[in-house]
Amino acid sequence: MVFFRGMGQLRPHNAAESEASKVKAVESNINVRFRNLEDTIACLALKCQAMWELLKEHSKLSDQQLIEMIGQVDLRDGVQDSKITRSAQICSECGRTVGARHRQCIYCGCPMEGFEVFET
Ligand SMILES: [Zn+2]
Repeated sequence: MVFFRGMGQLRPHNAAESEASKVKAVESNINVRFRNLEDTIACLALKCQAMWELLKEHSKLSDQQLIEMIGQVDLRDGVQDSKITRSAQICSECGRTVGARHRQCIYCGCPMEGFEVFET
């Protein structure tokens, strides 16, 4: 009798430890992915800086012109928030609504319009 009571007491404890272990694994995975995103952003910033310096060196463009263009591009989606946000589109072929991230209609395969060169 004592043995079974003891086992019953262990089960919730082990389940809690198991759950805590799963949470730690998820947290660790999120931390790794976050660091990878930080590295990717730093790499993209470096490449943008290098491209801008090359362009400036070989043209008559100025930092001020770049800043103005960034503002214009930022406002294309109607919101000045330092990012380009796409909204869902209506497929010109089948008329269905397609999510913003899809380059092709998920229903009929028609290419969606309006993607910029750097959009993924
Ligand atoms: Zn379609």
